[in-house]
Amino acid sequence: MKVFHDPIALQRELQGLDGSIGFVPTMGALHLGHRTLMEEACQHNDVVVVSIFVNPTQFLEGEDLESYPRKEEADRRICELSGVDYLFYPSADVMYTHDEVHVCAPDVRAYVLEGLSRPGHFDGVLTVVLKLFHIVMPTRAYFGKKDAQQLALIEQMVRNFFLHVKIVAVDTVRESDGLALSSRNVYLSSAEREEALKISYALKRATKLIAQGELDTTPITQEMQQIMATLDVEYIAFVTRKFEHIERVEIGNTVILIAARVGATRLIDNLQL
Ligand code: AMP
Repeated sequence: MKVFHDPIALQRELQGLDGSIGFVPTMGALHLGHRTLMEEACQHNDVVVVSIFVNPTQFLEGEDLESYPRKEEADRRICELSGVDYLFYPSADVMYTHDEVHVCAPDVRAYVLEGLSRPGHFDGVLTVVLKLFHIVMPTRAYFGKKDAQQLALIEQMVRNFFLHVKIVAVDTVRESDGLALSSRNVYLSSAEREEALKISYALKRATKLIAQGELDTTPITQEMQQIMATLDVEYIAFVTRKFEHIERVEIGNTVILIAARVGATRLIDNLQL
């Protein structure tokens, strides 16, 4: 596995290669969710590139940019063992200059839910993903459904900018008890981890109610709120795959999303129906 820190050097190297390039952008502190994306990429591409970059522009003032877990050596080994060919590990200085052109997320889908809770977050995400796409020029890029709104906005950016890359969506990887894997789970104490399980349980319960024929989102939301009563729930939302709010579940076109704080840790999860 080759490690690059310089975007131009990596771009030159990759431009000289034949075959398909699979790309997995991450912020590191790699877990089984990331590894699943890497495995998918390895299966379907000649060359696999992983980037690890804790992107400062997607963090808001007061968020966990400084304390975000960084595990350079362990991450490098995980990439190597997963069969990754190129690891891109840039610093913020090489990715950004002081005052530059950036991407603005669209109003309709980006200023609800995560966009409302974290204004500017998606501008930062789309800007860095566009930069990374131009450096790597991937054939396919792999993203987790865990970040459902991010995935929808990246798909939209690809369409809007006529980018020549196929976006591959990968199912959320969970612990055996249901907790969605996240780099931020390391912040949880064992008592908080127990509490955090209520998030995936609320999603499971919603699915069960829907399977029993309840399509009205109000009683489903109420039950979910009860399950998560001890958490600081930021939102429970029912949206279509295009992120339009709905009051009745549309089987095959509904995403249920949750954002909640467990202690100081903000977690998100979702389920697609
Ligand atoms: P992050 O390092 O958190 O920015 O995540 C990098 C990529 O991994 C994103 O596309 C995430 O959606 C994806 N990802 C994170 N957690 C999971 C998970 N539990 N299952 C599947 N994909 C995930």
